[in-house]
Amino acid sequence: MKKTVLFLLIGLAVACAPKKAVSSPDGSIVVLFSLSDEGQPEYAVSVDGTPFIGQSVLGIETSAPLNLKNGFRLESSKVTSHEEKWSQPWGENKEILDRHNELEVKLANEYCSLTLRFRAFNDGVGFRYEYGIPSEAKESIVITDELTQFNIAQDGFSWSIPAHFDSYEQEYRELLLSELENANTPMTFRTDDGLYGSIHEAALVDFPEMTLKNVDGILTAAPAPDGPNNLEQKAVVSGTFKTPWRTIQVGRKAVDLINSSLILNLNEPCKLKDVSWIKPGKYVGVWWGMHLGLYSWGKDARHGATTERAKQYIDFAAANNIDAVLFEGWNDGWTVANADHDFDFTKPAPDFDLDAVLAYAREKGVDYIIHHETAGEVAWYEQQLEKDLDYAAERGIHALKTGYAGWLLDGHYHHSQYGVRHYAKVASEAAARKIMVDAHEPIKETGLRRTYPNFMTREGARGMEWNAWSSGNKPSHHEILPFARLLSGPMDYTPGIFDIEYRSIAGNPDVKVWNNTHSSKCRVNTTLAKQIALWVTLYSPWQMAADLIENYEEHPAFQFFRDFDPDCDWSEALQGEIGEYIAIARRSGDKFFFGATTNEVGRTLEQPLSFLKPGVIYTATIYADALDADWQTNPYAYTIETRTVTSADTFTVVLAPGGGQAISFIPSSTP
Ligand code: CA
Repeated sequence: MKKTVLFLLIGLAVACAPKKAVSSPDGSIVVLFSLSDEGQPEYAVSVDGTPFIGQSVLGIETSAPLNLKNGFRLESSKVTSHEEKWSQPWGENKEILDRHNELEVKLANEYCSLTLRFRAFNDGVGFRYEYGIPSEAKESIVITDELTQFNIAQDGFSWSIPAHFDSYEQEYRELLLSELENANTPMTFRTDDGLYGSIHEAALVDFPEMTLKNVDGILTAAPAPDGPNNLEQKAVVSGTFKTPWRTIQVGRKAVDLINSSLILNLNEPCKLKDVSWIKPGKYVGVWWGMHLGLYSWGKDARHGATTERAKQYIDFAAANNIDAVLFEGWNDGWTVANADHDFDFTKPAPDFDLDAVLAYAREKGVDYIIHHETAGEVAWYEQQLEKDLDYAAERGIHALKTGYAGWLLDGHYHHSQYGVRHYAKVASEAAARKIMVDAHEPIKETGLRRTYPNFMTREGARGMEWNAWSSGNKPSHHEILPFARLLSGPMDYTPGIFDIEYRSIAGNPDVKVWNNTHSSKCRVNTTLAKQIALWVTLYSPWQMAADLIENYEEHPAFQFFRDFDPDCDWSEALQGEIGEYIAIARRSGDKFFFGATTNEVGRTLEQPLSFLKPGVIYTATIYADALDADWQTNPYAYTIETRTVTSADTFTVVLAPGGGQAISFIPSSTP
């Protein structure tokens, strides 16, 4: 009898335990919300009826005399549907479909209200916390931790960089999910069942970045602390605050992750009224010469940014259909090898006549990208930011590259709330003056380019520079980036090094080693054709041809970059596997561009050209690895072939070990 009553009570408790669900528009992905016995919110995600994210707790910890994590009761919930097509001034795709179902769960405990908002898309899930704290403890609530779990239901393989609060310039690790101690996001994985996923965040505003750490076998949110001397504080918030969206992308194929717009769909619409001045482009500059040690940043005979050299680069840009030029070291305050932290962004170096360079660029129809290297001195930079941006705007400059080389920002971690606020401030002050931004040593992108489309591109991973002065980026780095780093947004990788082994500077007495990880073995781990393909596969609205212009002069393969248009309208990742190979097509106006790259393993892809516009005859120019090309032993061997094709054709794409292939498709006739 007693037993029966007990079972009855348990049955009632289960029946009453609040559970709410929302499914994706196609029904394949289901998010299930529940409250634990302690009133702590939890969630789980299934895909095709199979657990994908097992039961996972939600909540936030604070040092304030508040409880933001449990004791909640369900006040109300509702499910709504949303379908909208929106467009952006630039991007992998200019037209985007936002189709999702949303579950809004309103909770309350004795301290606060909490709305949990879950959005289920056909390609994944996003959710965020929206807290309201109606007590006297409203101001300056210190958040000490986030409890969000991502309890991935199966083991599998993962690709990520380690969680590091100061630098994303780390080598990718390929690890079993069960072996992952910590990771930065996007953290991409393939489950043992063959489903693909990636955990990241969207709309990172006024909050620290989220990393992941393994807590008792479950990947758990780990927000960046304020700094090494303030490890407990993760964020300071006011009484009403929203966290960024926590995102879980889902793909049946690896390339589905790339073709997803989930991160952008979870950001706010554009806040800029006039976006007519925001334009993608191609650029060249002296940057690679500095990294090779051929030029210096500072004031000596090897100074890269001289008036004379700037005019050469402007001439080259004008002659080669390149939009802009960039000269690091243009300003006063650099010593010979590195920064003396006394930069002045309103005073050109003595041998760089900025106004003369700008006049010359204008005459030739070439734009100028100004450079601000802050060395991470953010408070100092913010003090003079408006004056520095005014200085550029008054001169008709519409583009800025920033740099934050070095550890810590005024004692705060780079990716802390302090850093997140700073980069947003620069983007918004720049937007007010019609200036586009390319940030190096940035905060990772989380789709904010939708809201502030002047924030064009950024670094935020190991870029080309590492090849100049370290053991370099492995071939497979470039087949991981599109599935990991680039899921967050564009990357200014600066591809296109044609002098792969630095032969043109060998024995040059001007070359000085400036970095202690440099060795005589330094080179780019690539074939030549792969360097061309990276202009397509590593998306950036500003795309640099990074080599010394001398290495492009007269080079037949540079025709691809002349023809290339980074202002694409449409993109599709066609085939690929993470860390193995990738093939992507993009359309810019009526031209199409195709790029494919492979890791250390040579391979042959069958690629239907069905992405081309039916009925149009195209001239395809194919920049391929020669049959005997090999990134280690024969990196320069390439072929250029022209064919007449239509969308009914299929290409056999042969990629050398560490190689690639790029194709331009230019319409030769329309029916
Ligand atoms: Ca860097």
